[in-house]
Amino acid sequence: MTKSHIAIMTSGGDVPGLNAAIRAAVRAASFYQYKIIGIEKGYEGLIDEAFLPLHSGSVSNIISKGGTILQSSRSERFKEEKFRQIAYQNLKKHNIEHLILIGGDGSMRGAQVLAKESGINVIGIPKTIDNDITGTDFSIGFDTATNIAMEAIDRIRDTATSHHRLFFVEVMGRNAGYIALEAGIATGAEGIIIPETNRDLQLLYDTIEQKKNWKNSSYIVVVAEGDEIGGAYRLEKTIQQKYPNIYTGVSILGHIQRGGSPTCRDRNLATKLGIASIEAVNSELKNVMAGVIHENIQYTPLENIGSRKLKIDDNIIKNLKILSK
Ligand code: ADP
Repeated sequence: MTKSHIAIMTSGGDVPGLNAAIRAAVRAASFYQYKIIGIEKGYEGLIDEAFLPLHSGSVSNIISKGGTILQSSRSERFKEEKFRQIAYQNLKKHNIEHLILIGGDGSMRGAQVLAKESGINVIGIPKTIDNDITGTDFSIGFDTATNIAMEAIDRIRDTATSHHRLFFVEVMGRNAGYIALEAGIATGAEGIIIPETNRDLQLLYDTIEQKKNWKNSSYIVVVAEGDEIGGAYRLEKTIQQKYPNIYTGVSILGHIQRGGSPTCRDRNLATKLGIASIEAVNSELKNVMAGVIHENIQYTPLENIGSRKLKIDDNIIKNLKILSK
């Protein structure tokens, strides 16, 4: 009996670890004897029929590489029904019954529409450097992004200390402070400014007041790009007005947080989820996302996937106060 055909694609912002997930899914498809086809450039490639046959050999030596061999996109066209219908015809033309979609919560919303309208089974794999997606404790890319941010902040600390300066380092995080909080704690930052709380600015003022008279100290303030304050440059202005005698500097880490070789943790997470996505097909699961919750693979219906909010509880605030002493 010929088994049904599977397609795989990456959609939305790129993250380190996508290739590791593609590799694992392709190898698992081969193991379970499915034919697997790659779709280039996410939803755009579905519409343009950019289909590419894949086999075990096509994914050799990609586990350590950043980016995605399938390329990715944000597709305005896929939001229009007439283009979605073209995408569905293309999938049907190639006898594809299952689509492995590696994406963030936006792509998973598109997947729900696709599954409902076309009847094609979509299995999601979560990726976002922001870690703000439900259905998994960690998403592919988050560990690498926080480690890149940590290393960059350590380097900036050397300049800040040498010149007795206060540096504002802006990290990614459109709506979420996960990277800022993790990298901030790991680098001993004096301030961490994130969208999930408005108590962070007062904490920063308290710390500056305490340390104002320290002769050779440096300050690092990690700012999530999505904070309501409006980014590192705006915060620098506010602090300069309040403390004109403090020398300040700003560094925006930007896209370096998305690139390069994934960490060991991200490679292994991506590998687990890649295999789990094909095993979901093999177990006849329909329209779910594979995630890791408390170290175990768990499948959550796509309709329950959304954006996750970092909870800033009193314990985190207490710890930050302790660390600023
Ligand atoms: P991410 O998956 O990284 O969160 P986006 O939020 O940009 O990235 O979403 C990726 C793509 O998913 C969008 O460009 C669009 O093509 C598709 N998409 C998102 N929401 C919908 C929707 N409601 N209907 C159809 N397609 C959608």
